[in-house]
Amino acid sequence: MIKKNVMMVSVLLLSVLLATPIVAQGAAEYVQSVESVIDPDSSGVVAESGPASGEEGILLMREEEKLARDVYVALHEKWGIRTFANIARSEQRHMDAVAALMQAKGIADPVAHSPAGQFTHATIASLYEELVTLGMKSPIDALIVGAIIEDLDIADLERLLADTDDPDTVRVYSALLRGSENHMRSFAGLLERNGTSYEARHISSERLAEILNSR
Ligand code: MN
Ligand code: MN
Repeated sequence: MIKKNVMMVSVLLLSVLLATPIVAQGAAEYVQSVESVIDPDSSGVVAESGPASGEEGILLMREEEKLARDVYVALHEKWGIRTFANIARSEQRHMDAVAALMQAKGIADPVAHSPAGQFTHATIASLYEELVTLGMKSPIDALIVGAIIEDLDIADLERLLADTDDPDTVRVYSALLRGSENHMRSFAGLLERNGTSYEARHISSERLAEILNSR
């Protein structure tokens, strides 16, 4: 299996660069094995850490947006796929929006001076390592990593939104959620063009279909 994956890398790289679909035998099986690297039963960082509301939720989102930005910057450096650079810029704006919310609420920012890949939240720190490792394997894996991050982000944001009625927090989370839905459409669309469909692992498959079928 490992040897086969290595052989597929150059084929997949070429197909992403040319943006033409690949029809590789066993591709579905390959994607499935790759996807299982990241816990397929996880329903999000929020669910795993228990209820995160108010300040705790805001702190989590600050680091979760940083996770997205830092992973996409690393994957853009590796593969040169422009979508990663564009979406990383959007994640920077999301980080800034959460930072502004924190400032308004007098919450100290634990990652204000953290370099790329450094986090204070243990789950997010280990996710960073796992996701970057996976995304370095091939361009298709990198796009799957993008979809996994947006999937996770949407699951956590929807849970946090259900848990707060603070207007400023709701406004920021809602903007982040719209961004994540757009990003999910970008990554899933690129995967689709390369003959791969992303299977939801944090949100339901119905919710994913709803996102992919809307604009
Ligand atoms: Mn985001
Ligand atoms: Mn995003």
